[in-house]
Amino acid sequence: MSIRPVKRITQAKPTLEGAGVHLRRAFGFGNTAEFDPFLLLDDFRNDNPDEYLSGFPWHPHRGIETVTYVLAGTVEHGDSMGNRGVIGAGDVQWMTAGSGIIHQEMPRGDEAGHMHGFQLWANLPADRKMTAPRYQEISAREIPSVTDDDGTQVRIVCGSFWGAKGPVDGIATDPTYLDVSVPPGRRRSLPVETTRQSFAYVFAGSGDFRNASGPLDVPTEIAGTSQTVPSSAVGNRSLVVFDRGDEVVVQAGPEGIRFLLVSGKPLEEPVAWQGPIVMNTREQLQQAFQELEKGTFLKSRE
Ligand code: FE
Repeated sequence: MSIRPVKRITQAKPTLEGAGVHLRRAFGFGNTAEFDPFLLLDDFRNDNPDEYLSGFPWHPHRGIETVTYVLAGTVEHGDSMGNRGVIGAGDVQWMTAGSGIIHQEMPRGDEAGHMHGFQLWANLPADRKMTAPRYQEISAREIPSVTDDDGTQVRIVCGSFWGAKGPVDGIATDPTYLDVSVPPGRRRSLPVETTRQSFAYVFAGSGDFRNASGPLDVPTEIAGTSQTVPSSAVGNRSLVVFDRGDEVVVQAGPEGIRFLLVSGKPLEEPVAWQGPIVMNTREQLQQAFQELEKGTFLKSRE
């Protein structure tokens, strides 16, 4: 086994999206090669309803898949195909936009005003960008959770892990999407197939992903925390990008650590990206925006 060294550690950046939603962007609209096949990760946790209730009103998508994982509160959604629904705590919505949908996503929070969720964008390969739109709605109880002897718990949204298989299937880039909790003080190794691009996004506790190997001078930003943690530890809202290897190792801090661990097969195709539409060429982008103007964007209405 070879441990994946840490390539880079950054903090999610405050970003204003939709109709005025205050969220934190872990990555997106930057160097797409570094995260290929993923494009963007938004963390829309917020305890102030004024900062999220305006939501993400009607907007188009083409050429990508969006994965919405809700941990507290709800997200109401509706789309151009007539689908309506609510994503609740622990639920996942995996939307393949394909040739195009127009939808809205409205975070509603829980009774105490808490909203907690993540949205990941995965790219579609060139030959599937114009595929028919598809939804996979997965309720919390359908997501397998495996607990190991040391107390490490893994919820498997997509992909196979420790002998369990997540409920989302048929995804072009064959991603693995895990929600991992490691108990206080534990050192844990987690397999990640060698050929995949992989990152972790920490959202509770703290830990160290690079004590076992890798350069010690990886630039690390630790912001917005008054906690005392070892200098190489990462905490809430840290994005850890891994280099190649076949396992990720984490040493959990005194309060444990919880993070998303995501990996996928790189597409290595050209990316032409404007707002919610991601294609391979500028011409395809222009065509998409012209179709939006002309009202011919939607290829599939059911
Ligand atoms: Fe959207």
